Formats: sequence, structure tokens, C-alpha cells
Amino acid sequence: MKRGTDVTDQWQHPRRIVQTNLQVTDALTMEPARLVDSIVDELHADTLVFNVGGIYAWYPTKVPFHVVNPHLDAGRDLVREVLDACHARDVRFIARVDFSKTDDSVYHQHPEWFVQRPDGLPVVVGESRPGPWRKLYAACGYGGYRRDGVAIPVLREIVRRYEVEAIFMNGTEFALCFCGSCQERYRLVHGTPMPSRPEDIAPGWTERGFADTMETLIRTTQEIVPNVPWILGTYVGDGRDMVGLSTRTGCLLCAEPLDRFGDGVHKARPRWWAAANTSVAGGIGRGRRPMVIIHACSGLAWRHVSLPPAEHRFWLAQAAALGGSIWHSLTGMPTTQRDRRILDTVSAHNAVLERIAPWLEGTSPVASVAVAHSRSSCPPRGDRHVAELSGALDALTDHHLLWTVYPDELLDEELPQGVSVVVLAGVQSLPERIEEALVRAVNEGLGLVILRPPATQDRSPLDGILPVEWHGHAVRDTDASYGRIEAGGPLASDVPALARTQLVPWRGSVLVGKCREGAMAWLTYVPSFAPLDGAGSPPERAVIPTERTAIPLVAAQGVGKGRVVEVMGSLGDLIHTYRLPDHAEILAALVRWAANAPQPVEVDAPPGVIVGAQAAPDRVIVQLVNGVGERPLAATPPAFDVTVRVPMLAGQAVEVTSLHHPDGVPHDGETPSVTLRLDAGWEVVQFRRTPRSG
Ligand SMILES: [Zn+2]
Repeated sequence: MKRGTDVTDQWQHPRRIVQTNLQVTDALTMEPARLVDSIVDELHADTLVFNVGGIYAWYPTKVPFHVVNPHLDAGRDLVREVLDACHARDVRFIARVDFSKTDDSVYHQHPEWFVQRPDGLPVVVGESRPGPWRKLYAACGYGGYRRDGVAIPVLREIVRRYEVEAIFMNGTEFALCFCGSCQERYRLVHGTPMPSRPEDIAPGWTERGFADTMETLIRTTQEIVPNVPWILGTYVGDGRDMVGLSTRTGCLLCAEPLDRFGDGVHKARPRWWAAANTSVAGGIGRGRRPMVIIHACSGLAWRHVSLPPAEHRFWLAQAAALGGSIWHSLTGMPTTQRDRRILDTVSAHNAVLERIAPWLEGTSPVASVAVAHSRSSCPPRGDRHVAELSGALDALTDHHLLWTVYPDELLDEELPQGVSVVVLAGVQSLPERIEEALVRAVNEGLGLVILRPPATQDRSPLDGILPVEWHGHAVRDTDASYGRIEAGGPLASDVPALARTQLVPWRGSVLVGKCREGAMAWLTYVPSFAPLDGAGSPPERAVIPTERTAIPLVAAQGVGKGRVVEVMGSLGDLIHTYRLPDHAEILAALVRWAANAPQPVEVDAPPGVIVGAQAAPDRVIVQLVNGVGERPLAATPPAFDVTVRVPMLAGQAVEVTSLHHPDGVPHDGETPSVTLRLDAGWEVVQFRRTPRSG
């Protein structure tokens, strides 16, 4: 049906997507019409993601070495049956393919298509899995299975035979491989033999391989059906050039923020993880609506049972709050769910989305703060919890400043609507053109907050606007140190929580510099009064030997029409590691000062409530996601007296309705303002402009 038309037309609408991650035996009991009926009538979805090809073909393929699901009756075309059932009910069909691994039988015919370890052995996946399974072998990203031998002819076969509305490729990870063709290519690209130790491989090798292969596959299908949309995943900390790939191929982006508790609560993802990943995929897609895959489980080892339903609802609502289309990932079909709570949650969430679809239609996200997400500060395959970024998001979330996590490669383009401040959180290097663009934007009025500037003395275009002069010296013996709040800045005068203290805790490497002329130091360094082992005892020696220095921890200055703040230590790390509210108070105050403009939306709510907003010319939608309480959330405690003000609609006549108050919410003031009680986990408030009556 709607294939080959403008991508944005189809996928810019807020969609309700369900993925049936099929188990091979699901083929035995599947009734396509019944499946699609339950997707529409019980789960209130409008799109189905269905297994088509790759590891197993779910149709009678003609491509050699494309292994058909052995539980599928010979000749049965399940893809055709389900596709027709979908289209009969106006359900979009996304074809899920995965060429990352395949069956034993293929490996023995074509060992050259498969990943080789440095010792020459293949990579067997899940070898110890119980049950009567044949082995699966990991396929080389440059090898024939993932390119000319199987993937390309299969993709051609799929788009020629089936009118799919999009292709979703799972398992795009590009394993480091030492096979003959990888070695040959390495020599061609780098002019040297491929090193045998993984740590000696040139940086970016697998990331470039991923991009090369994906581009080849996408072009292959686009030659047959122009603009058949592809959907690829990205995430916070993705080291691959997804901006470049999306620019070159027009692919759509999805995120897959797993709400993982299977490694224990101490390794749980941060509260805002789903929101941040939604935002990253939206930013890379330059405003195209991202799709957000939410697994209903607390980890794939327990994929057959539900997250605690309150936690599941909390995660789902974040995707909507940041402007994503929801994509529920189930293991199996509705009829094969052992834990029916999953279906209850999916159904209820989609029913709400269906109701508010007209509110969300045509909107795009509003943010006041763009937190730059740097490929250089989030190294490939590194720890995805980058402390400075995480701390910034902790603070902005708790203070209800509307943020977006934004790719640094796009900082020289028009920023998302409402953005008045850019935060560089631990960003270690930026291309010169981006720095030059930031300098121009600051002079024209943008606020810039730099957390933990790069510890490098290389000259850079940003130097000219930085408030601190720094020549490379850092101190690290800071375990029992403080920051002193200096008079004359917002930390001393605008933060009620800090009004009664001179000092705040400090720790971590401090870059020792001095304020440039005209810059102000708002927080100065008070050196450690003791080493850690002497801080507790004896208290007689808890004298602070140096009460005051001129060494700035935070400095600021006006530049043209804009404002710049520089933090010479690890404020984000302090926020994220210790969760002491003083540090978050400081960062929120710095961001507000740098903005030098009213926030588009102001929310007063307890920490733990995540706020997102979208706007269209005639309305502003504010979404409140109630995550108050210990995670995983077992219940949703109410939050009282939550106020929402919308300065971006100041002076305009509005009517206000909400999910839980469809008949209207009383509001007052020149700036529209409402006070609500959050009884549920998710509230959506619509401020709609009305013609001012006489
Ligand atoms: Zn290889």
C-alpha cells in the first residue's frame, strides 16, 4: 500500500508498533488473521514488526543458503499471509531481518563467510543452549552471507515479493573478524597487514565496516523500491557515525533502551535512560520521529515475563514524553505469552496513545537545553555511562529543565525548537567547524555551559570565548575539598537551597586556571583539609588550612549577546556519583543563567518526575512521567501540587485539557498555568490556543 511515498508521510505520525519476536515454533500455531485482529483490537496497535528473513526465512525463499524455519509447513508463505492480513486491517508491516548469524549447514559450505577469531576458529553463538538445536555461527560483516551471497539477494527477494512499509535490521553489530577477506580489506585500507591483537586494530575499523555494509544493503533495496524506509538502531554512547549514515541513506532511527534489572538493581539504567535514548534517535534523525523499542521484560534472560507493571509503564511513557513512536517488543505472539500482565500493560498504554494521537499529531519536541552527545566522549564499545553526560541529565531531569541529547556533529545546524543553551558535558574534542559555529551562535545570544573542559592545550576556536585561562595544570589530591560560593553570581543569590552555606563538597581532578579579564568566578576551590584516611580523625585537626583561593571551579562571562559558563572540574561526575542535591542545584542555576531567557515550559514537581514537551503552531503538549519512588517501581505514589506554566504561550488565550481531566483543567494567569495532582504514572496536558473572545 503506502510504499515508495515520502518517508516522513508514513512515519512522522505517532505510531503504535508491536513486534512479535517470533520463536520458531510459533509457526505451528499461528493464525494470521487472528494475530492481526489481536494486534488491532486487543493491543490497539497500528503497525506490526514481523520476522521475514535472515537467521530463518518465514516464507519459501529461492535464495540458496537462506535457511527456512524448519517448523514452517513446506511451501507455506507465512509472510504473505500475515502481510495480507495486516493490509486488510490497515496495519503497517515492518519486515524484520537479521543476517548476523546462521545455521551450521551454511557454515560448512561457506566457511569463508563467517567470523574468524585471531586463532582461526569460528564464533559459535549460544553453543551450550539446551535443546535439539543445530549450531549458529556468527557471519562476517564483510563476508558473503551478509552481502552478495545471501543478504543482498534475500533483500531483493523480499522487496520484490512483499509490499512492506519498512525494513528493520536487527543484529547490525559488526564483530571484529580476522577472516581472509577482512585481512585483505584491512591491507587495502590501511596499507599494513591486519594486526592479530584486537587492541592494535585501527580505531573506527568496525564502525566503518558497519557503515559500508549498511549503505550497500540499503542502496540494494532502494534500487528496486525507491525510498523503502529502513530502520536502524542507535543509543546513548553509540560510537558509529549514525548522523552520516542517516544523512546519506535517509534511514529512520530507532532506540532500544532496555530497562535492565537482570544484573541487579545496582546496575540498573538511570531513571531517564529511555527518555535520553529517544532523544538521541530523534536528534540524529533531524526531527524525524524516532521509534522506541521497549522490551516488556527486565532483561533478556527473563524475556518471557513482565517488568513490574508500574516500572514498565514508567519506561513506556518516557518514549512518548520525548516524542517517540512506541514499539513494544514481545517474545512470541499474544497467544504465546505466559505472563498476561505484558498484554495488559501494552493494551492500556496503546489505548491512551490512540486517544491522544490527535494531540500529538504534527508536533515536534521542545527543549531548552541541548546536551551535546559526543562520539569522542562516548567511545565506541566503551562504558556507555559517561559520567559527565549522566550527571548533567540527572540534574536537568530533577530540576525539570527540558533537555534533549543532541549529536555534536549537528551543532552547526539549526537547533531544536526552544533551545537557548548548549551543554558540552565532558566533550573531549569537536570539529573546528562546530566550534566556530558555537562561537558565532554565542555571540548571537546562545548560552554555552562547558562541564569538564578537555584537558588539552591545543588551540581551538572556542578559546576566545572561554572565561578561564588555563595552561595545563591540574590537581588531584582533592578528596576532602570544597567549592566556595562567591558573592555576585546566581549561586549566591538565586538558589534558595544554597543560601545558608558558604561551601559545597568537591572532589575529582581540578584544572587550575585563572579568570580572564571581565569573567567572574562564582565558585572557587578550597583545597583539601586532609587526606581521606585523616579526614575522620582526629577532629581536632579538621581545621581548613586554606579557606580561600582565586582558583575558579565555576567561572562565567558574557560574550556578545550570549553567555558562557565553564566548570573546571567534574561537576557532572559529582552529581552522578554522589547524588548530593547541592551539585544538581549548581548546574541547574548555571544553565538558567546561561539561557538568559524564560524557559519555554516551567514545571514545579518532585524530583523523579520526568518532563517532556512538544509543540505545534496551535498547541503545546506537556507530558509528566511520574517516576517518584524506588526503582524498579512497584507502585506509583501520587505527586501533589504539581504546577505547569507555559511561558512560550504567555499572553495567549488557551484552553487546557489533560488525559485525566478531559473536560478541562482550570488555569489562570497571563502565562498559562495549571496545578495538578499526579495520581497516575503519566499525565499529558494540552494547552490549546483559542481565539481571544471579546
Ligand atoms: Zn571477516
